[in-house]
Amino acid sequence: MNMPVKVRYYDSKTNSFRNGILTNEDSHFRVIFTNDGPAETDLFLSPGWIDMHTHILDGFGLFGTEADRIGWKTGVCLVADAGTVGEYTLAGYMKYVAPTIETNVKLFLCISPIGVIFHHDYNAMQYLDADRCAACILKHPDLIAGVKVRMGSETIRHEGLKPLQLASQAARKAGVPMMVHIGGNPPALKDMEPFFEKGDIITHVFNGRGHDAWNPDGTPSAPLQKLIDRGVWLDIGHGSSSFDFEVFERAIRHPLPRYLMGTDLHQSSVKKLVRNMNVMLTKIYGCGVPLENIIYGVTAGPADALGLTEWCNMDPIVQATLFRIIDHTEEYEDCQGNRRTFTKSIQAEAVILNGVLRRLANS
Ligand SMILES: [Zn+2]
Repeated sequence: MNMPVKVRYYDSKTNSFRNGILTNEDSHFRVIFTNDGPAETDLFLSPGWIDMHTHILDGFGLFGTEADRIGWKTGVCLVADAGTVGEYTLAGYMKYVAPTIETNVKLFLCISPIGVIFHHDYNAMQYLDADRCAACILKHPDLIAGVKVRMGSETIRHEGLKPLQLASQAARKAGVPMMVHIGGNPPALKDMEPFFEKGDIITHVFNGRGHDAWNPDGTPSAPLQKLIDRGVWLDIGHGSSSFDFEVFERAIRHPLPRYLMGTDLHQSSVKKLVRNMNVMLTKIYGCGVPLENIIYGVTAGPADALGLTEWCNMDPIVQATLFRIIDHTEEYEDCQGNRRTFTKSIQAEAVILNGVLRRLANS
């Protein structure tokens, strides 16, 4: 890519795309604003994409996958691991997995100290301890950004609300957000709602297996509306079981706060249904979500949720994703077997990762 080059860049301050020129002088990337007219190029530039929901404990259990494959190699400059790692597996992650990763990483530490290795994280409740979890988070402030707890009938059996209560205690004690997986009922969202605070994240929010997040007309249910009003982030968290085109299409007909574009990429969703961030963003774009709100959900939104105040700086640019929207017709499937055909595809072409421009293999 020769510089200077014209770009259509995302300005997080105005949540809009503007025309500019990407330059590189003395290894210092920046965008110079030119005008607010119609697009003058099909090359888009945004702050580096952030995937708010991934599983990167590669080689351990049912979920862990390769961080760089779902990270910079497909346009994502930071992956947030959603609780695959727990207090007991953190040292192993840092010793054996972290050195294999070039993509930036943040962890939401699992409230279960073993992390998420299989589907029932809470078989041994006696090991869950909010104080120890909080202490572990405070020991690793640059790496650990929050606490993760999975709540849904696919995970919770006899444990009830206890894991959520402990995760909430740990998050408040450590001063970090809590990310909560919702899914099948019980547990009911109305019983979980009191444990959330502003800045927490509810993931899998457009899933088709729980029935108490949305009213039949697609408006948020009373407990979900309470969470929205409190300032809780909504995250897609597509994965293998947690995205339903019908739920999503009904929900986006109504006003919603801008939400996060977590993929929930793990060992099986990386093979089908999600595959990578480009595919998920393509599905969301195909459903009619404006591009600026999609890019917000994969840049400024998650940066804000993670407390990364410098992430969207355009001078200098340290993390960025260059992408195009190409003509490409494909049929896509959600997690309930619903299919949609879309004719445009969002395709990352290069990243600026920690100040270095890297072209992607598929471009
Ligand atoms: Zn997940």
